[in-house]
Amino acid sequence: MSSTARIALNRPIRQLFDYTVPVELQLQPGQRVHVPFGRQKITGIVVETGSKPPAGITLKPVSYALEDWPALPAETFRLLSWASDYYQHPLGECLFTALPPALRRGQPAEEKPEICWRATSASPELPANAHKQKALLTLLQEHPEGLATSAITKSGYTQQQLKSLAGKGLAESLIRKPEPASHTADSDVTTGPTLSPAQENAAEQLVEGENGFNPCLLFGITGSGKTEIYLDYLKKNLARDKQALVLVPEINLTPQTVARFQRYFGARIAVWHSALNDRERLETWLKIRNGEPIILIGTRSAALLPFTQLSAIIVDEEHDSSYKQGDGFRYSARDVAVYRAHLNHCPIILGSATPSLESLNNAKQGKYKLVRLEERAKNAAPPSLSLLDIRSRPLEGGLSRPAISAIQQALNKGEQALVFVNRRGFAPVMMCFDCGHTVECPRCDTRLTYHRRDRAMRCHHCDYQTAATEACPECQSEAFKPVGQGTERTEDILGEAFPDTPVVRVDRDSTQRKGSIQAILKQVNKGEPCILVGTQMLAKGHDFPNVTLVVVVNADGGLFSVDFRAPEQLIQTLLQVSGRAGRGAKPGEVLIQTCHSDHPLLKALCRGNYLEITDQLLAERESGLLPPFRAMAILRAEGNTMEQSLQFLDSVKPMTQRPGIETWGPLPALIARRADRHRAQLIINSGTRKSLNHLLRQICHHLDLAATRGKVRWMIDVDPLETG
Ligand code: ADP
Ligand code: ZN
Ligand code: ZN
Repeated sequence: MSSTARIALNRPIRQLFDYTVPVELQLQPGQRVHVPFGRQKITGIVVETGSKPPAGITLKPVSYALEDWPALPAETFRLLSWASDYYQHPLGECLFTALPPALRRGQPAEEKPEICWRATSASPELPANAHKQKALLTLLQEHPEGLATSAITKSGYTQQQLKSLAGKGLAESLIRKPEPASHTADSDVTTGPTLSPAQENAAEQLVEGENGFNPCLLFGITGSGKTEIYLDYLKKNLARDKQALVLVPEINLTPQTVARFQRYFGARIAVWHSALNDRERLETWLKIRNGEPIILIGTRSAALLPFTQLSAIIVDEEHDSSYKQGDGFRYSARDVAVYRAHLNHCPIILGSATPSLESLNNAKQGKYKLVRLEERAKNAAPPSLSLLDIRSRPLEGGLSRPAISAIQQALNKGEQALVFVNRRGFAPVMMCFDCGHTVECPRCDTRLTYHRRDRAMRCHHCDYQTAATEACPECQSEAFKPVGQGTERTEDILGEAFPDTPVVRVDRDSTQRKGSIQAILKQVNKGEPCILVGTQMLAKGHDFPNVTLVVVVNADGGLFSVDFRAPEQLIQTLLQVSGRAGRGAKPGEVLIQTCHSDHPLLKALCRGNYLEITDQLLAERESGLLPPFRAMAILRAEGNTMEQSLQFLDSVKPMTQRPGIETWGPLPALIARRADRHRAQLIINSGTRKSLNHLLRQICHHLDLAATRGKVRWMIDVDPLETG
């Protein structure tokens, strides 16, 4: 009798599929196979072999194996199986997340040679106006060894222009095999600065108790030189034949970080982020899977890749919310990384100037070792923070007089200023001062944001947009004006107030084009006086030595939010953005505009003691029965009407009524209607992780069987970051 195998497919269903295995096939878990599914043939991943299928069913056979080794080796397979259960997400989709797109589609796990181009010896006869083609030809002539197609298109040329050169006999293609990774010899690698005594001290504590699972929380203030410590740690502790994973929140925003790693480790550095193309993903994935001794610097999904020689993990800015996936497989890359270090018996360093309450609590409980770095590298002093009460001050574009004159002073001294606005666009709303009308999104319960640059009104919660109007669409009044602050409006006001100084805006709109953030950083790092205006993007890890002043336009958004994480996130953002001031030789100053200058949280922030604040917040979480003292999950429902969604959750609620579990809701979500779906949620809180996990498993099982499909979409978010 032939054996059977249980296969996971890349489908959002909590079900595995049984197939028979032809005798000549030896299958093992994690291996890619081709299987018939309905009338299609699709790629699957072996989960189990020798399983006993239900009697009386005729199984179809596995067609063939895509390779004779498991694409997902044992440790990665265990990690993903654990994550599937922890986050209650279908195993198939979890497993496929660890494959590059080409392998998900069933393509072979090997690098295809890439087509290269070079100039021929023919003498160019191009029309005088063919500037682009001439430039391309010059580019090719500068690279007689040949240039890969991808490199050419990245430089701004099209396949069409290439073909047209080739058609004229001026360029020819050749096939080049991918070059084997060359590993930089030690002599090519520069050494960084000598560690300061404080850094040295921290570095020593990280190594103590080495070998085995050894989680450390490196709490180092902004500019304290944490990156230097990571580099030093890897240099001293990572064997030449081993792999390391360095997770960062966003790579494109901080190209400096990758450059610093490359200076130390040369070709051992590889990167993983969303801007890679399919070929680059496959190439890097193969290196990781083949156990090449690389150090991977990557964003969220890098935590799931099939390392086989992983022996150190670093999570930089561990508090950053971008580590949590917001839809689909809602995992936290930080938490997955910690579990992975545990599976691999390897050390993990979680670094931040503003550690999350979760990690601080783990440190308090002795699960993580707390390592502190309390002074800035290069003798820079921490910035001084002060509150600027704007209750009865006239504002221009959100900026008060004292803030404007502080900016003027910084510029006079030849320094740079950074203005932090928490919203992109021109203004959050357009309001009619005659009838009070504001423009709402027709598909969501939100107002549209006014973007003046392209005269559009946009919804930041769905993709709706419409043209902006001059007059009130309701009463035709001309008194239809922007209210509140967005980055564009602040940029305008600053441009008027400081006509001779460059004003540089950094937000999702201004950095959409590839390479634009690099250009912006380059300009700022020239060090000449300028004003940076931007959103959270500016708070992340940048090292601008000549920024000495930070102005926070309005700090009050997070003070009275219903989301229990809002105060933590507000403090972290304010400290991170403050940390951009005074990183060089000159001291930094931070002005925080607020209408609540007596708010205890803001006052504590100015005293500069992060742990004092987090102790307070932790105490509030504990008495409020909130994470990290309870394990939380949210069951979300999206129906065609609110009634449908609430009814659905009401029908689940009785399952949750058991000792040790509290439920809140069901209640409409904060934005109750989004893209025309009516959203409600049931918050489930448990005293133990285990009982929460057990309950969620039962709920999923129950709902998978229930015939509610199609009417109400539901999803589970474990350890949710947003509870609104
Ligand atoms: P963090 O990541 O903690 O915010 P960085 O690692 O970016 O800090 O360091 C801040 C700045 O200090 C960087 O410009 C870095 O090159 C510099 N730096 C770090 N350590 C040292 C050192 N030991 N000697 C001199 N400069 C240092
Ligand atoms: Zn009106
Ligand atoms: Zn919308």
